[in-house]
Amino acid sequence: MLIRDLLRAKHPVVSFEIFPPKPETPLETVYRAIDGLKGLAPDFISVTYGAAGSSRDRTVEIASAVHNRWGFTALAHLTCMGSTPPEVEKVLEDLEQEGITNVLALRGDPRPEGIPADSPFRYASDLIRHVRRGHFRDFSLGAAAYPEGHPQSPTIEEDILNLKRKQDEGADFLITQLFFDNEAFFRFMDKVRGVGVTLPVLAGIMPVLNARQIGRIVSLCGASIPPKFARIISRYEETPDALAEAGIAYATEQIVDLLSWGIDGIHLYTMNRPDVAARIMGSISTLRSTLVAGQTAPTEG
Ligand code: FAD
Repeated sequence: MLIRDLLRAKHPVVSFEIFPPKPETPLETVYRAIDGLKGLAPDFISVTYGAAGSSRDRTVEIASAVHNRWGFTALAHLTCMGSTPPEVEKVLEDLEQEGITNVLALRGDPRPEGIPADSPFRYASDLIRHVRRGHFRDFSLGAAAYPEGHPQSPTIEEDILNLKRKQDEGADFLITQLFFDNEAFFRFMDKVRGVGVTLPVLAGIMPVLNARQIGRIVSLCGASIPPKFARIISRYEETPDALAEAGIAYATEQIVDLLSWGIDGIHLYTMNRPDVAARIMGSISTLRSTLVAGQTAPTEG
């Protein structure tokens, strides 16, 4: 199913993100994770592309398993920085052959070898424009959004104008970077809607399970830690089980708040941990079915 159609028909949606294992790790590890997610009824599952050192080559294969073996709607991430049009076309062609027509169009991060002189891709909006003008124009395209601003953007306002470019070039929906501060997200949404970005937005939520993960997240994506969450971390950082439990509870509370606000969707960064996803989904199952049954329209604020 095309995710743009899904988002028109259902409110709110819930999606899960998984990542391919490193090349030396068998695919079975991620297949076990997908199998563990099957009872949780996600509306779609997304598969990252070369993020955090994971393998690029395996994205199509895993997305195909998500779609063809487990029967979920699959969203394949695709980065363009450093790629040539034929390379991008090849991935899109492989996806289409597997029956996958949903792509999260990303710039990605610079590769060590730099950008080839003949690459027309500097930004995600270049990839979106490219797809919309070619053979794959009917794909449903998502794009990334940054509630606290992209780390390389001088100001959040500038970043939001660049987000608008992605809508103008033909993105169908947005998925956000993870965040821990819902109030920052709500302020972001006011600004985004203020400049005319009307696309559905799925809020990216990552349950924090250990103290090491927090340092990595903050240095990679600059997510701010609100005082309430900082207290939790400092209270439990020496007791891993307690920190994981508190991290899951905190993520659940964020989701409950976002659902009450009227969010279009929740995108859970599962870190290939179906046990964690199951605990969160178990805590919101009645909320989720009540909202979907009532198809409560977003109130935004
Ligand atoms: P862009 O939208 O191109 O933005 C990048 C920067 O350029 C921003 O600062 C923006 O403000 C600026 N910019 C954009 N357009 C212009 C313009 N025309 N002129 C001047 N400046 C401009 N990475 C992976 O490698 N693989 C993944 O699978 C992956 N999945 C992700 C999923 C989500 C939901 C998110 C939020 C991120 C993901 N990333 C992934 C990380 C992403 O690739 C990086 O954050 C990357 O640095 C930016 O990608 P983008 O698509 O947001 O880029």
